[in-house]
Amino acid sequence: MRVILLGPPGAGKGTQAVRIAEAFGIPHISTGDIFRENVRGETKLGGEAKRYMDAGELVPDEVVVGMVADRLAQADAVDGFCLDGFPRTVPQAQALEDLLVDRDAPLEVVVRFLVDHDEVVQRLTGRRSCVDCGAVFHAEHAPPKDEGVCDKCGGELVQRDDDTEDVVLNRLDVYRKQTEPLEHFYWERGLLRDVEAVGEVDNVTERALGLLREYAS
Ligand code: AMP
Repeated sequence: MRVILLGPPGAGKGTQAVRIAEAFGIPHISTGDIFRENVRGETKLGGEAKRYMDAGELVPDEVVVGMVADRLAQADAVDGFCLDGFPRTVPQAQALEDLLVDRDAPLEVVVRFLVDHDEVVQRLTGRRSCVDCGAVFHAEHAPPKDEGVCDKCGGELVQRDDDTEDVVLNRLDVYRKQTEPLEHFYWERGLLRDVEAVGEVDNVTERALGLLREYAS
């Protein structure tokens, strides 16, 4: 299955993407995760991306598109993928469409996660991430057993630089201006489907999987 998850930062795309990828046996490809790995590994790509990420701005299209093209060329992505955090601009969507046309393997569905503005601000500013394994907790709604310590690996939990309130508000503004136009782009192509992304995480997963099973071959 070839699927894209769309929705503002904090809509829960990352969490749902992991579950969707597992359910359908496809790779979860998160451009944000790839950038963060590169920042941690202090690669050239990481150095280039970091200043944009810290400010809540988008990394330039040509950098992201090249990176995704390389990732989609790997063997595990030949039969399908779940893209999370890409595309984020119309030129990125256009580039992806061209790439998939060349492979004769077009997108099958775009899932839009619906959640309101105040809810995502609250989710993101309370989010705490493990510096070692990337596991995500929430200071109020999903706290770790010991404050500041990852339940899964014992690593340190921190607030991502881009989860502070100022940066979160900027990320949402960037989403509205640069990414929301994609909703129309995919709607025009008949690919856009909606999932209510509020309430229990498991219920959101059920709704998303229910919808995607219609596309599973
Ligand atoms: P995320 O974890 O998806 O919210 O991504 C974190 C940050 O990585 C974003 O705020 C951007 O700076 C950068 N990023 C991730 N994906 C993209 C993309 N498709 N285009 C541009 N920048 C991106």
